[in-house]
Amino acid sequence: MPVFKDASKFARPPASSTLLPIAPAPSFFDTKIEGDTLEAVRADLGDCTRCRLHLKRTKIVFGTGNPKAQLMFVGEGPGRDEDVSGEPFVGRAGKLLTQMIEAMGLQRPDVYIANIVKCRPPENRQPEKDETATCSPFLVRQIDTIAPKVIVCLGSTAAQYILATPQSISKFRGEWFDYRGARVLATYHPAYLLRNPAAKGVVWKDLQKVMAVLGLKPKQQSASAR
Ligand code: URA
Repeated sequence: MPVFKDASKFARPPASSTLLPIAPAPSFFDTKIEGDTLEAVRADLGDCTRCRLHLKRTKIVFGTGNPKAQLMFVGEGPGRDEDVSGEPFVGRAGKLLTQMIEAMGLQRPDVYIANIVKCRPPENRQPEKDETATCSPFLVRQIDTIAPKVIVCLGSTAAQYILATPQSISKFRGEWFDYRGARVLATYHPAYLLRNPAAKGVVWKDLQKVMAVLGLKPKQQSASAR
């Protein structure tokens, strides 16, 4: 069995943790909102103008998928294709994520996909700290409402935010942590895999750990796809 570490207690990391902590999550995040729903979260988000990212966005990318998903993926933020469509992970990286989900024996509608920020950062830059802080309460409510068994953080922005660490993802990817009742594992972002296909092997190993926890069997490849 993997060792589970509670990411919400990283004010002082457990001796066995490979993570360096940042400030613990504010107490707002300690409580779940009783009876919350994805519809209520979406309604509260509204036509959001809470941070500067609204100025250049086309569409808010709220998140999509099974509201009762056992598996949730969290990425960084919408890119150009997502900004236009309003759906997360629909561009090239998204197509690779779809392949990864299908290789795990699932379909996209089986899982839930969201991002740390819901509006596209200009020129696909990383979200700023204040943008993340402003947007993330909505993601936290989505996580609490969906209550997935496993969260996979895609890339360092998602991993560093959820696990409250400034450390490089290469130091802790593939390890298990706890977050709000879910088991969390960070792996490389599909966009990174497009640039570094050699890393696909370690990501597949990470996803196999997730499959083991969820009791999933890999998709059988058809003879023509082999
Ligand atoms: N990259 C992300 O992190 N999220 C998306 O939705 C698309 C690309």
